[in-house]
Amino acid sequence: MPGRSLLLSAALAVAAAVPVLGAGPAAAAPRPDLGRQTLPAGDGWASAGTGTTGGAAAPAANVRVVTDRAGLAAALASPGPRIIYVKGVVDVDRTCADFATGGYTLAGYLAAYDPAVWGRDTEPSGPLEDARAASAAAQTKYIKLKVPSGTTIVGLPGATIRGVNLHVDKADNVIIRNIRFEDAADCFPQWDPTDGAEGNWNSLYDNISVTGSTHVWIDHNTFSDGDNPDSAQPVYFGRPYQVHDGQADITAGSDFVTVSWNKFTDHDKTMLIGSTNNPATDRGKLSVTVHHNEFYNNLQRLPRVRFGKVHVYNNYYQVPDAGPFEYALGVGVESQIYAENNYFRLSRGVDPADLLYNWGGTTLTAKGNLLRVGGRETPLDLVAAYNAKNDPDLGSDAGWTPTLHTTVDPAATVRREVSRHAGAGEIH
Ligand code: CA
Ligand code: CA
Repeated sequence: MPGRSLLLSAALAVAAAVPVLGAGPAAAAPRPDLGRQTLPAGDGWASAGTGTTGGAAAPAANVRVVTDRAGLAAALASPGPRIIYVKGVVDVDRTCADFATGGYTLAGYLAAYDPAVWGRDTEPSGPLEDARAASAAAQTKYIKLKVPSGTTIVGLPGATIRGVNLHVDKADNVIIRNIRFEDAADCFPQWDPTDGAEGNWNSLYDNISVTGSTHVWIDHNTFSDGDNPDSAQPVYFGRPYQVHDGQADITAGSDFVTVSWNKFTDHDKTMLIGSTNNPATDRGKLSVTVHHNEFYNNLQRLPRVRFGKVHVYNNYYQVPDAGPFEYALGVGVESQIYAENNYFRLSRGVDPADLLYNWGGTTLTAKGNLLRVGGRETPLDLVAAYNAKNDPDLGSDAGWTPTLHTTVDPAATVRREVSRHAGAGEIH
């Protein structure tokens, strides 16, 4: 292997440039250099074809440690392949007021589009909506950071990215690992009275958005809304003022993605795979593997799928509160979900029939899943439970069998293994 010694010397150079990695007597045992790690062969859809190596082959000159938003933005715009180590808290060093423009104020917006004034038949338009859109554009420009091909972003111990939307757009070969992602809040939610029966407030930003991209590995991260949870938001026009969108959304013709060993917590719309029912972009794509993730107190989209062959195995679902919970797996148009050996721990008020929601799909494969309610474990037939309560029934064959996956563990071990090892800070 002629490249071996070169890689090794580059890795040593990195270790020297990143003192945190070897710091302190407690770290005497060598830590793995996460920047140089690649997706193991066979680990989900991201291992298809050329596999996923991110920026692992970066020369030493393309390795950076970033500590703030400007540093992260600069590193992402630097030559690739690139390895970016995130150190400490990278956040948005501006407030919502810094982005507001064109005369936008929330009070003005609420006054203009109150259903008592504006009605409920058309979406907002006019000067206040224009000001909102212009303000949102200013925020987008600052907080949406594009992740190009050949990039690895890994957190050093304790690393957090807050208020930023990482956008993997039209890229190939990206790795994102070991980072706490918090609160990609939208300062300027849009009111849409025509969304649903009562209207909705909608927001733009995911913590991670993957659009039109291939070979992406999202691993061992922790996602939350930090100190800005949905439960703390006000209600306007009778609807929750939703400032968040997804935690990790995979859309717009993306393909070959593995989402493994992450913790997704305390969030509404968690993981959307496919954002439109139009087959032109997504049919035959959106191949995603979702394994060994912990979902704690998430309300919906765990994930919600359109079109894709999506292997969902060995995930640990916890639904502690029946009240706001909507569903776990969203069975969308032409979706081909293969849900295997997952563990669902539900509070007593949650009906297992509600773990699926039919968004226009017809069938899925579900096998080996386990239900825990009140300390008692029982086998769970997701499809039968759904069909007993709902019509039309869903079929029970997604029409494919996954071949790219790590060992599929018995569902009975998932609760222990995933709760111990998922999330940031758990790569050993
Ligand atoms: Ca989204
Ligand atoms: Ca039925």
